[in-house]
Amino acid sequence: MGVPTGEVVARPMVARACGCLREFQHYAVDRYRAQRLAKFQKTRCEECVAKLNEEQRQAASVVPKKGEAFKLLPTNAQFSLTRKADATWAGTLSAEGKTVEAVGDGPHGLTLALARAWLAANGITSPSGSGESAPKPAAPQTAPAPVSKHPAPKPPPPSAKPSLSNFPRPKSG
Ligand SMILES: [Zn+2]
Repeated sequence: MGVPTGEVVARPMVARACGCLREFQHYAVDRYRAQRLAKFQKTRCEECVAKLNEEQRQAASVVPKKGEAFKLLPTNAQFSLTRKADATWAGTLSAEGKTVEAVGDGPHGLTLALARAWLAANGITSPSGSGESAPKPAAPQTAPAPVSKHPAPKPPPPSAKPSLSNFPRPKSG
């Protein structure tokens, strides 16, 4: 498939997926016009794609990245995933007495969504993001390690800061 080379015989305005009207070119000889038109209608226009990419880029700067989100979760964090009748998945994530819920198309995306939701609910932002938008004055740069409740089975990783014990704990009851 690909853009045909030939005379443009018509330039109708066609609504794209984003709702914007854009010029769709009809070529004199174009055996794939139907496919091209279908793709044209199913995709966003260039401006909206650029806007969307920018929004996603900004969102990604505050939301922990894929590998990072799981690392930020505390010890004993537990996922529970359930496949539903309509083939979607429902899941919960429990950690440190807090539980968040989410639904998704599959377990991979769902666990990430849950991890991010839990971190957001606990005011934990990405260490690589500057955390400027976090309302807390003394947001920790790393995930709070589980403290005091039960003895840790092994010493904390070198990245954990000792000052984390001062992090205000949410009431678990
Ligand atoms: Zn558009």
